[in-house]
Amino acid sequence: MKVFDLQSLVRPSIAKVKPYSSARDEFHGQALVYIDANENPNPTAFNRYPDPHQVALKQRLSEIKQVPKDQLFIGNGSDEVIDLMLRAFCEPGRDQIIVAQPTYGMYAVSASINNVEVISVNLEENYDINVPALLSRASDKAKIIFLCSPNNPTGNALSKGKVIQLLQQFQGLVVVDEAYIDFSDDVSFVPYLSQYPNLVILQTLSKAWGLAGLRLGIGIASPAIIKILNRIKPPYNISSVSQEQALKALANESRTRTWISEIVKERKRLEKELLASPTVKKVYPSNANFLLVKVEAARALYQHLVEQGIVVRDRSEVVLCEGCLRITVGTPHENDLLLQAWRQFLAPH
Ligand SMILES: *Cc1c(COP(=O)(O)O)cnc(C)c1O
Repeated sequence: MKVFDLQSLVRPSIAKVKPYSSARDEFHGQALVYIDANENPNPTAFNRYPDPHQVALKQRLSEIKQVPKDQLFIGNGSDEVIDLMLRAFCEPGRDQIIVAQPTYGMYAVSASINNVEVISVNLEENYDINVPALLSRASDKAKIIFLCSPNNPTGNALSKGKVIQLLQQFQGLVVVDEAYIDFSDDVSFVPYLSQYPNLVILQTLSKAWGLAGLRLGIGIASPAIIKILNRIKPPYNISSVSQEQALKALANESRTRTWISEIVKERKRLEKELLASPTVKKVYPSNANFLLVKVEAARALYQHLVEQGIVVRDRSEVVLCEGCLRITVGTPHENDLLLQAWRQFLAPH
């Protein structure tokens, strides 16, 4: 087996990039007068550039995630981290990524935007990964495998042993997107980082932390990988508003814990109630804050719900999700409204 060699995976042009050095990079410490960044000196709440390295936010995330600061990258949403991974490691027009489908759409979209070919390999019937199928498609051009666990839109966590087989046998990077990890019975892959230098974990403040509007995604990986992402990111990618508001929210961990347990409890209630409905063929087991539900007449049910003012996600055209709707767990009241509208579909008169 070849030894994992990160430097040989980096695009040669990226390895040569001399990063932009901001005014705040060149001076550290406290000064009396800041006239180094062409900012407007008049104090609005936002006249200064934000901290390009998000030191305070990383410090807090480091405590919460139990990960050293130099293994954390903060992106303008996970979507920025996905894009930077592609830009760092995949040569446009030549390299490939492998995606286990069905999954989150942004891996393939971001690859297409970067002119990186997407190799799609279907999950198994139970939505777990097919390791031999994934590895059989992995040529030298395949630089990254994107996995999502718990997976969107199927809701299941991938089997840990299979992901580890990929980490051991694939010569490129393995991204495990844990956007929904806070809702999961399964534990994070974070403890495996020290063992697998090719592991990159994505998390986000958009789901359990309730901060989707701030756009804060987190990359967790070896210091060497984080260093590469830092070299190519836009210098001020996280606004001062996002950094401040995130710190405020992260101070209240117990509020998030309460939300998570309420959402998981409601997920279980929804699952039970939906299973009792004759239009439901299957509710897939979920470790996330949503349910994938196979129904009779998915499109008609979707339309009916929209007419009742309730929007779910129609996934009925997605590979292996035929006839399925994806339903995010709402507040208890919102879930009651969904169930009420759902029953009306069965008995419209
Ligand atoms: C919601 C979601 C995210 C979050 O993306 P952000 O850009 O951080 O809001 C990431 N991955 C998956 C699979 C998701 O479903």
